[in-house]
Amino acid sequence: MPSSVTELQSGRAMGHSTIPGPILLLGAPGVGKGTQAKELVKLWGIPQISTGDLLRFHKANGTPLGLIAKELMDRGELVHDDLVNEMVAERLAQPDTARGYILDGFPRTLKQADWLDARLDAKLAGRPSTQPQSLPVVAVSLKVDYNQLLRRITGRRNCPVCGTIYNIYVKPPKVEGVCDLEGAALVQRADDTEEVFAERMKSYAALTEPVVDHYRSQGRFAEVDGDQPIEVVSAGIIAAVERLRAK
Ligand code: AMP
Repeated sequence: MPSSVTELQSGRAMGHSTIPGPILLLGAPGVGKGTQAKELVKLWGIPQISTGDLLRFHKANGTPLGLIAKELMDRGELVHDDLVNEMVAERLAQPDTARGYILDGFPRTLKQADWLDARLDAKLAGRPSTQPQSLPVVAVSLKVDYNQLLRRITGRRNCPVCGTIYNIYVKPPKVEGVCDLEGAALVQRADDTEEVFAERMKSYAALTEPVVDHYRSQGRFAEVDGDQPIEVVSAGIIAAVERLRAK
């Protein structure tokens, strides 16, 4: 197994030749889905589709969806399935998804998972199986324990310009509060507080854990220990995707 993303990117492993297809990154808030999605984007050149980022974009721009989403997000509750599904449908219709994509934070309910499964099945009908868009979905779930998640969430800071994610405890910027790359002042998400985290974890246990079980039972599923250095987790995800794609 390749030991790092660098090794994979150098072409010594099979990362380059893999047609990624649709990949789901599952896991609790703060588990590292966003960080890992960015590593996979670098390797495979497919887009990261984060429903949280899309919703934050709507919120920041005051769109009708953003206005509805704001209160729910600030309380740590999920946005209604139909609204999120429609937003994802629009994003998946963009041509950059042709070789595959990484869904980060979606599906988060069984209703969203059923919607996605039906959409992908409909796409499959009539397509030759060699086309990337006709590859079945593979799901990778990241696992980290509760206390570690809490530390990650409350320590998380983001660059509003380039999206780089820092953590004041384990991955601080060189200068406190300032992005190493952009020099911009780092921001903390409104929902990255201890109180809202507790609500998000309740939603996760009640609504999203059944989604993990749904994909686990379909066979194209792997679980990766997210409590390891970023490169080790990335290598674990890449190896899992390649193994599942070879099935
Ligand atoms: P995230 O950035 O993935 O942690 O998402 C931040 C917030 O956006 C969540 O706490 C929800 O309020 C909302 N959200 C993101 N993805 C979804 C989704 N798939 N379904 C419903 N709400 C979502």
